Amino acid sequence: MSDIVIIGGGVAGLTAGICALLNGFDAVIYEKHHIAGGNLTGWDRGGYHIDNCVHWLTGTNPVTTQHELWVRTGALGDTAVFQAESLYTYEHGGMSLSLSRDVNRLHADMLALSPRDDREIASFIKALNAAKTIVEVSGKNNNKRCTTPELLASLPILLRYHRMTTHELGQRFAHPVIQGFMECLFPASFGALGLLVAAATFCADNGGIPQGGSLAMAQRMTERFLSLGGVLHCGVCATGIQFSGCRAVSVRTDRGETVRADEVILAVDPAYAFGRLLDKDRMPLPLKKLYEHPKVSRFSSFHCAFACDLAAPPFCGDRMIEFPEPLRQKLRSRYLILREYSHEDGFAPDGKSLIQAMHYCTEEECRFFIRMRERPAAYRALKEEIAGEIAALITARFPELSGRLRCIDTWTPATYKRFTGADVGSYMGFAFPPKLNPVFMNGRIKGLENVTLATQWQQAPGGLPVAAKAGEAAVREIIRRRGGG
Ligand SMILES: Cc1cc2nc3c(=O)[nH]c(=O)nc-3n(C[C@H](O)[C@H](O)[C@H](O)COP(=O)(O)OP(=O)(O)OC[C@H]3O[C@@H](n4cnc5c(N)ncnc54)[C@H](O)[C@@H]3O)c2cc1C
Repeated sequence: MSDIVIIGGGVAGLTAGICALLNGFDAVIYEKHHIAGGNLTGWDRGGYHIDNCVHWLTGTNPVTTQHELWVRTGALGDTAVFQAESLYTYEHGGMSLSLSRDVNRLHADMLALSPRDDREIASFIKALNAAKTIVEVSGKNNNKRCTTPELLASLPILLRYHRMTTHELGQRFAHPVIQGFMECLFPASFGALGLLVAAATFCADNGGIPQGGSLAMAQRMTERFLSLGGVLHCGVCATGIQFSGCRAVSVRTDRGETVRADEVILAVDPAYAFGRLLDKDRMPLPLKKLYEHPKVSRFSSFHCAFACDLAAPPFCGDRMIEFPEPLRQKLRSRYLILREYSHEDGFAPDGKSLIQAMHYCTEEECRFFIRMRERPAAYRALKEEIAGEIAALITARFPELSGRLRCIDTWTPATYKRFTGADVGSYMGFAFPPKLNPVFMNGRIKGLENVTLATQWQQAPGGLPVAAKAGEAAVREIIRRRGGG
């Protein structure tokens, strides 16, 4: 048996811990927050439960390998999965389009909206079906995994979308609703392939929401780790790693402890890890190149949650609407993403409901909020101001909500930075730009014999499945190094 010290108790760290224990190692996690889960979390405010994370969880379809990993880590298992009929609805000028789970329905809805876009619509639907055949995406409705000929047939169709941003994809359509539909789900710099893969995942019954939401999922993973004999120290920040030559020998914490380590897994944001825990120049080259790449960016978002004085909100699921011009300029964001939680019983008191709103922030905006937080009164006032503007926009769109919304919380990229240590408050990996091949980077760190990286940043655009995959891969790497497996 050997001691693996894991720094960071998010999904990557918890998965690494669980896989380590299942492979006969001892594992201890140091997590700086008071609970494990990282960005996979939620919190209570005045009788409401705010859900921070899962909009869709890739791997909820039992035929996928990702599902098997979620079961192994305790994230799923017997948990019921909510499978909505649509992933999101974009509306504009009194018209709307939903990303239906049924691709034929989506096709028909798009054609009904804009017959003159028929060729571009046919191409998009063909690519969506092609993306559904990719191994990790394919689901029950396909009844099969992807074969090599299928993969080869899909690639040329997908390649077209690999070369454009979601904005460029939107511009290929004449109809403004389809234009907005294509670019509202992700930040503007995302490649269209990212949208196709997300849509295909959802349409393959592989992007549901586990019952109880994000916090419940994190708690199940934490319980799984503990039940296997793992040791979890919450509220403890790792502050450094001590070395003997090329080998890490211990981890220092902010409690003044020095913890012996045979292996160290770094399950934190690399922009934080390399600079704070390890020398900056230790960062693996492929990662460094992405940080320095002029077209690869990071992002986060501004959020507010509203208690709603109606038993059911006037819309269902995720609703995207466009900011009017002055707000778009001010917030430097084009779309407001609204979300309601009627699929969850315990998220609002009886007779009430919850609406959460968010919009994406560029890296520059993230840094702005982080700087603002140093002036607490101004920061608070800014958050209230934006929440007020968003509430006004929501009630302008849904007049029945007038006088029925009460802001119960606001949070920003600065909040994410504060709670997870992520450099610019980012909670996903790199934005997935066109032409970038989203290869999975291994967690090896050149020149260090027993320190391994496990983070969502190892494959753009990150997310829960990548975090889990990175955690699992880190343990496989340790086993490989030791001559096992
Ligand atoms: C609003 C929002 C919506 C999202 N929606 C989705 C979605 O629908 N689907 C999806 O797949 N993903 C989604 N994500 C992304 C998902 O939450 C992340 O990809 C995932 O949680 C990242 O896990 P991680 O373990 O790599 O990193 P993190 O969650 O950042 O975990 C790192 C952990 O390390 C801890 N830590 C940092 N420094 C130290 C230190 N020095 N010592 C000890 N501990 C430390 C932090 O506190 C944190 O708990 C969403 C995230 C947000 C915020």
